[in-house]
Amino acid sequence: MRLSKFFLPVSKEAPADAAIVSHQLMLRTGMIRQNGAGIYSWLPLGYRVLKRIEQIVREEMNRAGAIEMLMPTLQQADLWRESGRYDDYGKEMLRIKDRHERDMLYGPTNEELITDVFRTYVKSYKQLPLNLYHQQWKFRDEVRPRFGVMRGREFLMKDAYSFDLTEEDARAAYRKMFCAYLNAFDRMGLTAIPMRADTGPIGGDLSHEFIILADTGESAVFCDKALLDLPAPGLDLDFESDLTPFVTERTGYYAATEEMHDEAAFNALPEDRRVSARGIEVGHIFFFGTKYSKPMNAVVQGPDGQMVPVQMGSYGIGVSRLLGAIIEACHDENGIVWPESVAPFDVGLINMRPGNEACDAACNTLYAALTAAGREVLYDETDDRAGAKFARMDLIGLPWQTTVGPRGVTEGKVEVKNRKTGEKHDVKIEDMLAQLK
Ligand code: ATP
Ligand code: MG
Ligand code: MG
Ligand code: MG
Repeated sequence: MRLSKFFLPVSKEAPADAAIVSHQLMLRTGMIRQNGAGIYSWLPLGYRVLKRIEQIVREEMNRAGAIEMLMPTLQQADLWRESGRYDDYGKEMLRIKDRHERDMLYGPTNEELITDVFRTYVKSYKQLPLNLYHQQWKFRDEVRPRFGVMRGREFLMKDAYSFDLTEEDARAAYRKMFCAYLNAFDRMGLTAIPMRADTGPIGGDLSHEFIILADTGESAVFCDKALLDLPAPGLDLDFESDLTPFVTERTGYYAATEEMHDEAAFNALPEDRRVSARGIEVGHIFFFGTKYSKPMNAVVQGPDGQMVPVQMGSYGIGVSRLLGAIIEACHDENGIVWPESVAPFDVGLINMRPGNEACDAACNTLYAALTAAGREVLYDETDDRAGAKFARMDLIGLPWQTTVGPRGVTEGKVEVKNRKTGEKHDVKIEDMLAQLK
């Protein structure tokens, strides 16, 4: 992508109405544009990152055996009357009437809808286990939408729903999601800590929130320092094996959000292991058994011929919130420092002297070679001052910067900078081309 042909409305000033750094940086780099309280347009740079996060989530859900589908944003109120949640949900639910005066709503979550899909098609235990998911926009009329995409009203969520015959099987399904979440967040460069959590209006008795530690997080959290160093299970994990050891290892350490905090248990830890911090909730998983299947009559025939309500769990990831969370975790005084896995482009190519024949030729060659090797390149061939070009590349945080200047080019060299470490070194163009082949 040539910068002169791209749409990148970068601004110099920190916006006055953004209270936290991720929100400021998303506005300054032209990733999002607010259209109403908690409602955003995703501009091209932000949309690229959103898509990459969505793709990581998709790959890790698929790896764990979940199946992707898509449900609508608008739902019929009647389904929610069946579960009893239409009245319970309160003002966070955006209620709408269609032209026939039918009650509709913009889905804040999808337990009812998926349970209806399930009961329509699945009648026998032989079709289980089943885990269906989608990534779809949700609407919650939050009292205080703030911090940009961190607490939007319209936001993108991945929500998965598991269906099993027995409670034991359902707990195994829960463990799969537990491990898949750790892998997905790890791939995004984040250390997410599973913490015992309150189940809230979703209901149920087993629940974990996945928390990223950050000073700007909205929840107070408490955990054992040991959890910060535990590696994710890894992409070679066999999801058909017994995952209990992975879950037990992580849930064996103290970790809880404010609502579930047990001061006495926490204080029993050695002092240097007590982490009391703020956290961002990026995911939340629930096992809730028959809470929806019973009232909505989602029953399956067991091996003994008996019809029983199916055992369910639900599993959410805040896909759009993750952009904010990643920036909170990955930035410095010059701007964003994207982890390679989610960066909007892999390489920023800077032409220091557009119009100079040798610089243009070297840039064109590198651009073509990088692109052919599967790298996404943002090529700055504008006439802006060198300082402005560097500052903009630092601000938008692409992992690698390649600078082509007239002096280096006469020696067949370019400068490569690692955005994260700031390390720069000269590289021979021919070596770079050879490496990309
Ligand atoms: P919170 O405690 O932040 O209000 P929640 O517990 O109400 O979140 P869940 O119902 O658990 O949210 O939804 C699953 C995930 O969706 C959350 O873990 C979070 O990452 C994301 N999410 C929830 N509300 C919002 C929001 N208003 N804006 C962006 N993401 C959100
Ligand atoms: Mg909430
Ligand atoms: Mg919560
Ligand atoms: Mg939650």
